[in-house]
Amino acid sequence: MPPKTPPHAAAQRTNAEPSKPTGRHFFFGPGPTNIPDSVLGAMHHATMDFLAPEFLDIQTRVTDGIKRMLGTTQSLLLYAGNGHAAWEAALVNCFSPGETLLALDCGYFASGWAQMARDLGFHVETLAGDWRTGVAAADLKARLKADTKGAIKGVLAVHNETATGVVQPLAEFRRALDETGHKALLLADAISSFGSIDLQMDAWGLDVVVSGSQKGLMMVTGMSLTGISGKALARSKAVTTPRGYFKWEPMLAAAPQRFPGTSPVHMILGLDESVRLIEAEGFGAVLARHKRFGAATRAAVAHWGGNTRSGIAISGQGLSGPVKALEVLCTDTTRVSDSVTAIVVPDGHDANAIRQIAHTRYNLALGSGLGPLAGRVFRIGHLGDLNEPMLLGALATTELALADAGVPHSPGGVTAAISALRGA
Ligand SMILES: *Cc1c(COP(=O)(O)O)cnc(C)c1O
Repeated sequence: MPPKTPPHAAAQRTNAEPSKPTGRHFFFGPGPTNIPDSVLGAMHHATMDFLAPEFLDIQTRVTDGIKRMLGTTQSLLLYAGNGHAAWEAALVNCFSPGETLLALDCGYFASGWAQMARDLGFHVETLAGDWRTGVAAADLKARLKADTKGAIKGVLAVHNETATGVVQPLAEFRRALDETGHKALLLADAISSFGSIDLQMDAWGLDVVVSGSQKGLMMVTGMSLTGISGKALARSKAVTTPRGYFKWEPMLAAAPQRFPGTSPVHMILGLDESVRLIEAEGFGAVLARHKRFGAATRAAVAHWGGNTRSGIAISGQGLSGPVKALEVLCTDTTRVSDSVTAIVVPDGHDANAIRQIAHTRYNLALGSGLGPLAGRVFRIGHLGDLNEPMLLGALATTELALADAGVPHSPGGVTAAISALRGA
């Protein structure tokens, strides 16, 4: 009798496992990201006593390192749970049932966080932004000014919207709060920016910052981090939302152990190595490398599209008009993302067909268009453990897939990327 293939193995073959067995799998989604061998190696470790001083020292080192990267001297918690867990923890610790939150809508992840808040019983008002540029600080300021009774208790802002490749100006959002004297908490989702794009929690007056382990931190999925300001912590003691696992106060009080139950020892060992790698390269150098890679990717896309722009609008409803050539989704050069580039494909072409060819023929995984952008957009992630040969390989292979898929483009995007890398 032939051996039975478990159903999950079959699913893995079509979705995750490359059909082409030679060479390395090139993973260029915007998260998860490549895990460095030394991070994988750090997790290959015998069981440790999670209450022993040797381990608690490591845990403290990880916490301190992440706080340095986050630019905060306030509180930090890690959760065994992905970014969605930190999303939920932030909401239930900061707000009481029925309170009003203002969600800045700039893309799929912003919508997701807002929806979670609704599902948890908060009253969520949306401030719609242009998906090609993000929410305007002036619009936020106007809305806060109109809230004369202070009904809005929190502002939910995604820093780097991974679905669109747009970075929102958190420091300007803080100014909008300060200039209107509004007391709402400012909560930031930095899941795909932390570790890749500059973010200063304390200097920018962010009350809560959430991120995950599997993006800029180059770690396995399953951990998240939360920076908590003194103001947010004080608030969390007063709110009436029931909390169990996610309750901040007892976790902080249990320092240095800080987990309800067994600590995720191996993931903390992995994070320790991630933080070490980032600080060995130099955090400033890591950010500069992402800037170069973002610029190179955008240069390739602009070249493919003949340096043209459709001028169409994009919102939660999707695309508003015809697109004739490939183009970078983000149209504000001061808000382009250095960790992910979203690319709009010309009318009559399917972004998923390009991804499919890249994956099955060439072993290159690209990100899909999310929500209303499905089929109209594909994404190149350029964050985490990457170097120039990897990025240029991915861009060259994307061009190969564009040619195979019959998508019109100007050949030579890699030459444009090389010029950008050389600062030409
Ligand atoms: C990846 C991502 C999330 C979700 O994180 P998970 O770890 O998958 O739960 C949320 N927001 C942004 C901006 C992201 O990039």
